Formats: sequence, structure tokens, C-alpha cells
Amino acid sequence: MSDTLRLMCILAHPDDESLGTGGILAHYAAQGITTFLVTATRGERGWPGDAATYPGHRELGRIREVELRAAAEVLGLHEVVLLDYQDGELDRANAAEVIGQLVAHIRRVRPNVVVTFDPNGVYGHPDHIAIAQFATAAIVAAADPSYAAPRAFASHRVAKLYYLAPSHKLLAAYQEAFGDLVMSIDGIERRAAGWDTWAITTQIDTLAHWQQVWQAVSCHQTQLPMYQKLRELSDEHHRHLWGTQTFYRAFSLVNSGRTIERDLFEGLHRPADANEVATAQKVIH
Ligand SMILES: [Zn+2]
Repeated sequence: MSDTLRLMCILAHPDDESLGTGGILAHYAAQGITTFLVTATRGERGWPGDAATYPGHRELGRIREVELRAAAEVLGLHEVVLLDYQDGELDRANAAEVIGQLVAHIRRVRPNVVVTFDPNGVYGHPDHIAIAQFATAAIVAAADPSYAAPRAFASHRVAKLYYLAPSHKLLAAYQEAFGDLVMSIDGIERRAAGWDTWAITTQIDTLAHWQQVWQAVSCHQTQLPMYQKLRELSDEHHRHLWGTQTFYRAFSLVNSGRTIERDLFEGLHRPADANEVATAQKVIH
């Protein structure tokens, strides 16, 4: 039986979806795949502007949610869920509670493919690391019928889990545009490491959507002081930033091997034609 394929990204902050996964979200939405986003926090501490004009946690959280929903619209996302955790404190949240919430969403949506951060959180961001761990745990728990989530849905087995795996080269291009991705945690400096190309399992060509991704990034107006240089970049630099996305296939129940994947859904049945997609979509809604 055919079914519409579903992709779910589980991330930490508004703007992670555009900067981290904008390319694949636009790419797969254009192919008729239903895309979902779970964002753990409202990013209410992310204020790169003048400290004197900081609008406060609650107001900035509200503004960033509006920005996130605008970006989601640009990327063709089917649904955005915010979990309401505190920005910057995700690794101190109650793990069982976060995992329970994620399990409920995974069981409700029944994604075939889930994408989250890599174990280093790209540049050691504790929220990114925490959400990657919670998402991974939630996928295991969601498939276990004996695990009781806060809302009752049937258990669901995710077929493939991916971690964001930006190459050294891509991170160099990012840092050229954004400045150094670096943060100091517990007195120790954390920097963006990037992935060796041999460790990357999956490369998706998203070049056709680079302008859409850039438009989604631009929806995050409060963050634009950080992206100032982005506006001055050449089209060619933008194409490089948003034109390819790379991942590490953390597990797959449907395929394997060393050949670089060009599709996150490789190994899964794709509806053969538009009619089949339309029929399958009716089943979901
Ligand atoms: Zn983030």
C-alpha cells in the first residue's frame, strides 16, 4: 500500500530549520513529501542586537515564533510545533518529559525520516546537543509499544535517522559569512568542527531552492544583525551556502552501504505519480 512520505526535523531554536535544514525542507516539500518541524525553544535569549533594546524573554519569544512561522511558510512546511522549553537551558530540562513529548509527536505524525543535529551540535551548542540526544531517545521509545507517552497514539518505527553533517568546506563558507561559530561553555571554547567528507553518508542537491532558503533565513529579522554580511554576499557564495546539504545516516532500517546517498528517502517506497501522492495525502488530512 502506498502512503505519503513524511519528513520530520527536530531542532532547538527558531532559525535552525532555515540555516540547518532549509534546503531539504524546500526540496522535499516541492516533491510532495509532507514536512514537519518540532522546535524545542522559542530562542528567547537570542538577541544579537543592542542590549539596550532587548525586548525581554517573553516578547522576544513571541516575535521569534512569528518569524519561525513566516520561514516555515516560505519552506512549505506542513506543520510547526514549539515545545516551549527555555532557550539555553534545554540540557537541564527534564529528559523524560522532553522525550515523552517528542514520542507523542513522532507517533502522531509517523515520519519515515527524522533529521536532527549531530552529536557535537555543529559547534558545541548545548541546546543542539541536547535535542539530538532527546530526538534519538524518542525514536527508540516511539517504536516500543510498552513506552507510555503523555498522549495515546500507536507506536511508530522511524525508518531512518539523520544527523546534520556540514562538511569542513561548508562550515568555512558559513563562517566567512557569519563570523566564527564559537562559544565558551564551562570555561572551555567550543568551535565548529565540521565533518570529514569520508564520514558523510548523504548529500542532497538543493541548489534549485537556494533563493527560497535565503528568503526563509531572512524571515528571522531579529537575527539579521548577525547575518549582516550575508546581504553583501555574491549569488555564487549564497548558492554554495544553500545549494548542498550533507548528513550522517545514524541508522536506517531500509538500506545501507558506503555509496553516498542522494536522497534521504532512499530505500523507501515513493508514490509513483502525482495521483498517488494526492490520494495518499487525503488519507493523512
Ligand atoms: Zn540553534
